Amino acid sequence: MKKWTRVKYQPCMPLGDNHSKITECDAHKNLSKKAACEGAVLLKNENELLPLKTGQKIAVFGTAQIDYVKGGGGSGDVTVSYVRNIYEGLKLQADKVQVFDALSLFYENCVKEQYQKGEKSDGLTEAKVPADLLQSAATFTDTAILTISRFSEETVDRKSDGTDDYFELSAGEKELVSDVCANFAHVIVLLNVGAMIDTAWFADNDKIESALMLWQGGMEGGLAAAELLVGDVNPSGKLVDTCAANLADYPSTANFHESEDYAKYTEDVFVGYRYFETVPGKKACVVYPFGYGLSYTTFSFSNISACDNGKKVFVTADVTNTGKHAGKEVVQLYYAPPIGNISKPALELCAFVKTPLLESGETYTVSLDFEIAQMASFDDNGVVEKSAWVMEKGEYKLYLGNSIRNTVCLDYQYSIESDKIVEQLHSYCAPRRLGKRMIADGSFVDVPDTEVDLQEFPCEYECPYIDATGHLQGLIDVAEGRVSLDEFMTQLTDEELLNLMTGTPSTGVAHLNGMGNVPRLCVPNPMTTDGPAGMRILEEREIYATAFPVAITLACTWNTELLEEVGKAEALEVKENNLSIFLAPALNIHRSPLCGRNFEYFSEDPFISGKMAASIIRGVQSQRIVAVAKHFACNNKETNRMWSDSIVSERALREIYLKGFEICVKEASPRMIMSSYNFINGVRTCESAELLAGILRNEWGYQGMVTSDWEVPAEHYKQVKAGNDIRMPRESIAPLKEAYEKGLVTRNEMAICAKRIMEMILWLD
Ligand code: BGC
Repeated sequence: MKKWTRVKYQPCMPLGDNHSKITECDAHKNLSKKAACEGAVLLKNENELLPLKTGQKIAVFGTAQIDYVKGGGGSGDVTVSYVRNIYEGLKLQADKVQVFDALSLFYENCVKEQYQKGEKSDGLTEAKVPADLLQSAATFTDTAILTISRFSEETVDRKSDGTDDYFELSAGEKELVSDVCANFAHVIVLLNVGAMIDTAWFADNDKIESALMLWQGGMEGGLAAAELLVGDVNPSGKLVDTCAANLADYPSTANFHESEDYAKYTEDVFVGYRYFETVPGKKACVVYPFGYGLSYTTFSFSNISACDNGKKVFVTADVTNTGKHAGKEVVQLYYAPPIGNISKPALELCAFVKTPLLESGETYTVSLDFEIAQMASFDDNGVVEKSAWVMEKGEYKLYLGNSIRNTVCLDYQYSIESDKIVEQLHSYCAPRRLGKRMIADGSFVDVPDTEVDLQEFPCEYECPYIDATGHLQGLIDVAEGRVSLDEFMTQLTDEELLNLMTGTPSTGVAHLNGMGNVPRLCVPNPMTTDGPAGMRILEEREIYATAFPVAITLACTWNTELLEEVGKAEALEVKENNLSIFLAPALNIHRSPLCGRNFEYFSEDPFISGKMAASIIRGVQSQRIVAVAKHFACNNKETNRMWSDSIVSERALREIYLKGFEICVKEASPRMIMSSYNFINGVRTCESAELLAGILRNEWGYQGMVTSDWEVPAEHYKQVKAGNDIRMPRESIAPLKEAYEKGLVTRNEMAICAKRIMEMILWLD
């Protein structure tokens, strides 16, 4: 196909082999199932209850076996032709397990009835099983599977006042747990959830021998669950969030809902395991630690060696499958910095690798490496050097293992004799009213209120209008090398530039609008579509896409190659439907279990978030589909998300909330970044030149374009000045025109944004 034929004319061209359709094809559904299997985390497995033995009889409890939650709602949803639930998945394993159908059919009816009454996944009540049915189930088998699910979507957060039952079990669920435990000798728990929930209730319950965290596994999640239960697949997922016993144990819970107008990130860098593993006494709150996950087999690590070349540290280790089943293991490397004068987390993840499938007895050598500079802290107080990444003198120890708690300390350690400035940066996005911030002993130090002068970044681009009537050059002439982009830009009238600053009408199956669209100059109109769990096309278009597992499930695979494959498959579906800009991945931080959108984000840890996002981006962009890393940044709360101010120290911003974006920008060059709705330290992210010009473009060298999130109530001219290149979806340009006429924004400032939009379009095939 010639350049932009697809984008411009939207021909109906199946992209599969022999002209078959690739959208929701079997290969993609299988890939989705594979990822769902690999992201599931085996939390508990006493007496080797799992995998189920061939011929095992089971009774399955809980509405979740029927109403399987494939993913979250809102823009992260995917329109599918079906969702395979857990009961159906188990029935497909009829040669291996026998399900007590009467019980599952009872649940099927309960779900149907509730749906008929207008309930949806988030509102279903757990059904009370009639005593005689319970009795028959217990006569049929001594082994029960208990399913629990949760649904959430954007714009809504969980509550922390005891009235929300996302984290905790509802009264109906508690009753179900006690009924099942009282009547069955063997109980297996399946959790179909999109974020951390209470795990203490089964961890501490001897009657519950096994628990499998399925997360939300996409459209084939029910079959994935069945394959794991019968042992067709050996679980190899590891937690990417810490499971604490109580909601109140997470340090962000205390003030999460303090105000609708702001969220004060007073726990500072002590988010997730950085808190639980560091602050004295907090280890005891952890039920299942970061990185944890069992397997049906066991592994040992040996021959661990490490060295450095002054820039990078290299570690190798032999991993041996010492058990009876084939399986995969995740090798995790953590560093422990010296105590020093900057209060630091005790351990931080710095590298990881997943082995291939190892047969019983097989040994495989893994190699890991990481940049020494990764161990630096951002010094926002000037302890060593203000606004610099610094390494304090002392010993940096390394720990290798298969969870943050199950590690060995390496003989090798990296030492420096004096403090070192790794990179001198600037003070950007500084807090004014944070009040206090946590230090490593769990206490808080005061942060005095300050006033900050925002820095400006004058536009250095010059783009006068040159009337080229008679010898117009189209964007295709730029693409084919006949004219430079800068020359091309001078032909754009002010009116055209103004129009380029917002979205364009939707065409084809798109509903979220496009970008570009200057027919006079042959600028096409590529369309956007959501992510992140697959392409989202509205139901009435009757195009069904593959729903992949949600981001937290994907992250728990710790398998970067697999995520790249998922990204590629998603992009192919986007492409086949003549869409061009995929609004994914999303990589905000699981700062709190209360955020309603955690399912769309990867982890509490920025390092794994960045690595996972980079993998997806590589996969997506390998198909010349634009990946959009979102929401930049600190959109870790949904309540009043368009007006909420995330108040955060510069250090936590750099080390936790921006880190994942920095990793994926530097490793995978996403063509687009979506700014978030919220403010950071009093400035809306899409109006923040310090964030978009200072940090993103100048310090990180980002070359791509920035879009706003949809319908953000920002001032358009401020967005343009900050380098938020486009305001989406499609809005009136009148306010921007007025600002332009008043001289509040210049032609050059609009032209540099438009140029970045052109560069994005030129990159498309
Ligand atoms: C979400 C974005 C999404 C956009 C378009 C917004 O509400 O925050 O993640 O891409 O809508 O659907």
